[in-house]
Amino acid sequence: MAAPSEESLRKALADKQAAVDSRGNAVRALKAAKASKPEIDAAIEALNSLKLEKSSIEQQLQAIVRGGDGSSLSREEFRQAVVNTLERRLFYIPSFKIYRGVAGLYDYGPPGCAVKANVLSFWRQHFVLEENMLEVDCPCVTPEIVLKASGHVDKFTDLMVKDEKTGTCYRADHLLKDFCNEKLQKDLTLSAEKAAEFKHVLATLDDLSADELGAKIKEYGIVAPDTKNPLSDPYPFNLMFQTSIGPSGLLRGFMRPETAQGIFVNFKDLYYYNGNRLPFAAAQIGQAFRNEISPRQGLLRVREFTLAEIEHFVDPEDKSHPKFQEVADLEFLMFPREQQMSGQSATKMCLGEAVSKGTVNNETLGYFIGRVYLFLTHLGIDKERLRFRQHLANEMAHYAADCWDAEIECSYGWIECVGIADRSAYDLRAHTEKSGVALVAAEKFTQPREVEKLVITPNKKELGQAFSRSQKNVVEALEAMTEEEAMKMKAALESKGADEFLVCTLGETVTIKASMVKISKEKKKEHQRVFTPSVIEPSFGIGRIIYCLYEHSFYRRGKNKEEQLNVFRFPPLVAPIKCTVFPLIQKPEYEAVAQRISKLLTAAGVSHIIDMSGNTIGKRYARTDELGVPFAITADSESDVTIRERDSKDQVRISVDEVALVVKGLTDGQRTWADIWAAYPHHSSASADDE
Ligand code: AMP
Repeated sequence: MAAPSEESLRKALADKQAAVDSRGNAVRALKAAKASKPEIDAAIEALNSLKLEKSSIEQQLQAIVRGGDGSSLSREEFRQAVVNTLERRLFYIPSFKIYRGVAGLYDYGPPGCAVKANVLSFWRQHFVLEENMLEVDCPCVTPEIVLKASGHVDKFTDLMVKDEKTGTCYRADHLLKDFCNEKLQKDLTLSAEKAAEFKHVLATLDDLSADELGAKIKEYGIVAPDTKNPLSDPYPFNLMFQTSIGPSGLLRGFMRPETAQGIFVNFKDLYYYNGNRLPFAAAQIGQAFRNEISPRQGLLRVREFTLAEIEHFVDPEDKSHPKFQEVADLEFLMFPREQQMSGQSATKMCLGEAVSKGTVNNETLGYFIGRVYLFLTHLGIDKERLRFRQHLANEMAHYAADCWDAEIECSYGWIECVGIADRSAYDLRAHTEKSGVALVAAEKFTQPREVEKLVITPNKKELGQAFSRSQKNVVEALEAMTEEEAMKMKAALESKGADEFLVCTLGETVTIKASMVKISKEKKKEHQRVFTPSVIEPSFGIGRIIYCLYEHSFYRRGKNKEEQLNVFRFPPLVAPIKCTVFPLIQKPEYEAVAQRISKLLTAAGVSHIIDMSGNTIGKRYARTDELGVPFAITADSESDVTIRERDSKDQVRISVDEVALVVKGLTDGQRTWADIWAAYPHHSSASADDE
């Protein structure tokens, strides 16, 4: 039988509450009427059994709305267990901790650095190598003009509200989100209709304008969480860290909020490097900086983070992808905008169908969605807790053709970890306009084609006499007219002999006479088509992916509730250390074997640690399981040793000479543990393990 839905439970709870109320009234009435004891007792018994039924529905509802990892831990308890382990084992450390830290800044400690390096190395292999991408590495400090052209100086904002008395700042959408979530999770008496309303607000939160957000905050009576003071109306706050370049302080700059702009401004050179051929992709891994209004959610919302971005340049008239068939049969959770707006959940869809039906705008965008799915699941992200959510209409930048976020579910809910956007030609056009350098591509025709072309020929002599020093601006503005503007001017010049013309670079309108410019349409033979390429951009928040990976990999095991041991089930690819080596007991012969194996592992390029401590073998396993080390080698003779696999705790015996290469094969992904289990004698040791 299917589990009851949240909606049906809320309805059942409301009905049960009404029944409890009415039965309670009946009991009171009987008491007031001094009814017989057996009559009152029977009514109380009926009331108690109704209360029991109500509490059972409450428990079911709580299990749905508060969530969990499937075990007995609540979401918060599970997160706490993960975070405690991560901090204790130095996966990460709050930055500047001895000075009480700064919100939104974190250091990665040794295992955290190793996991990050592994994720980035796989990213390079899966994307850069597979697609022959051109990798670049640009500065974080960026002059203002670049970010002015891209729109970040004017528009890279979040909506903020202030506590009207203390001035404390909050992100407006976060307050609304917290309010709705709290109501849904904690108020079990909420009617099904009100619950549906809050859910709709949550589903469409990113779509709300400043006014709509302000109106909702007022309607729900939301106040400053710390002081309960009233809040200001929402207003935009620019998230970029500002700086100045050089000692004069005159050249304004910003710490880049994304790495993409570094690629766009290099487009001309990269296109040339690629033999003037499209499509091609450039990639960049680097730090990005965003002065988040109220960073929270640990590693998920920080003020400095690593981005890995791809800018795939493609002909806007042909967004097919030659390798799309390789991913077309993949099936995974997709969440198109119509489903979000109508309150449905994400459903499993076949990527090929999603593209052919037009749900996903084009093949290239679809190809990257498929590649991102493969990348994340290969790292160890649970495919049942990964979905691709399409941006809502207002959420998407006005120039974007389509946009999907890879969202991963963790104890904080569904988190955007990768944004995959078709940004059309916006960025290259914006930089062309601002820099005056044409960031365009050309398609060479095999046969010249006859086309009708607009030809604008300014009469420089006359324009010079009329506008003297401004002549250059007027000429450039005339030449830059669109076909529509030029044909309007031509009509005006022919009918009236003159036309008023706005020269943006001068900020003034000038009069153009018929003798000053010749506008015509001429038949021309063209050898090429010049156009601004479209850009498809997958943008990966590496820290977010890693944090979700930590949660998806974490579990506890043990004999009983009190003696739980923490384990990260990282795939060997991700594991910070691939192998531990220990002598079974502190005996010189075994220690020498362990040292020899360590040397062989180093020669094979396998990261490992050697543990000569006198701790029990169980303790040593527990320590390495907590770091997610997939294999442990125990030296208990001079010829053979055992390898133990972390999750099954199974062990095989293997010769000292062979062991390093076997572990290398396992960590490179050339062999699986099942292969090894089938090929080598099994080792059973009751004393060796932890439980
Ligand atoms: P965006 O350019 O806003 O789409 O961000 C690109 C990616 O960067 C997102 O998909 C996130 O994974 C990541 N990201 C954005 N903001 C933050 C942040 N404050 N902290 C960590 N990661 C972030």
